[in-house]
Amino acid sequence: MVRRKYVVGNWKMNGLSGALAEAEAIFAGARAHEAVDVALCPPFTLIGPMAALGGATGGQDCHPQPSGAFTGSVSAPMLADAGAALVIVGHSERREGFAERDADVKAKAGAALTAGLSVILCVGEPLGVRESGGAIDYVLAQVQGSLPGDFDPARLAVAYEPIWAIGTGRVPTIEDVAAMHGAIRAALSDRIGEGAAAVRLLYGGSVNGDNAADLLGARDVDGALVGGASLTAAKFLPIVEAAA
Ligand code: PEP
Repeated sequence: MVRRKYVVGNWKMNGLSGALAEAEAIFAGARAHEAVDVALCPPFTLIGPMAALGGATGGQDCHPQPSGAFTGSVSAPMLADAGAALVIVGHSERREGFAERDADVKAKAGAALTAGLSVILCVGEPLGVRESGGAIDYVLAQVQGSLPGDFDPARLAVAYEPIWAIGTGRVPTIEDVAAMHGAIRAALSDRIGEGAAAVRLLYGGSVNGDNAADLLGARDVDGALVGGASLTAAKFLPIVEAAA
């Protein structure tokens, strides 16, 4: 099974309307690399105008319920209605900062799929777990606990993002990335059988134009989830090129 490369930018809580010019430049540059799927996930406020630029646009979170008395929240059908094609769920900044548990992430992923969105499901271990040698067990438990019950493998990607690598400039060794991705693929295979071959596995954590080729070349790495380096075309497009 040939999986298309997938490079996704997570703008986090960054971007006013002036930043749409960067998104436009990113989408234009990405069109030169037809073999790579590129998407940007801006704050909620920019989803509509960014989607109108014609590139794949996503949310960074969604509520598990479609509507209701949840002040300040945005649901998966609302994201789709605004033009989003995908949503990130379970980012470590949501798990840590908003106390999201695996069960919450599972519910959000299921709601997003029901709303017709694709999902990027994030998992990743803290530094202490990595240093104690328990990273693979920790991440596989997150995968098992966060995966929706039933899903189309082509519409779900898993992003392995070691927490200690996010925004720090530190990255795991290529061998450690490949070992983790291989373990995730095997766990998916146990869970859904042959369909696991269609699930794209992204690496995230301090990916930049200098390290992208090595990281994207690792076994079972089908793309990247990029934070800081996704905010400008100058930093993001070299990562897209490395994936091509
Ligand atoms: C992220 O937050 O998903 C991320 C990978 O951030 P950065 O690329 O800045 O490490």
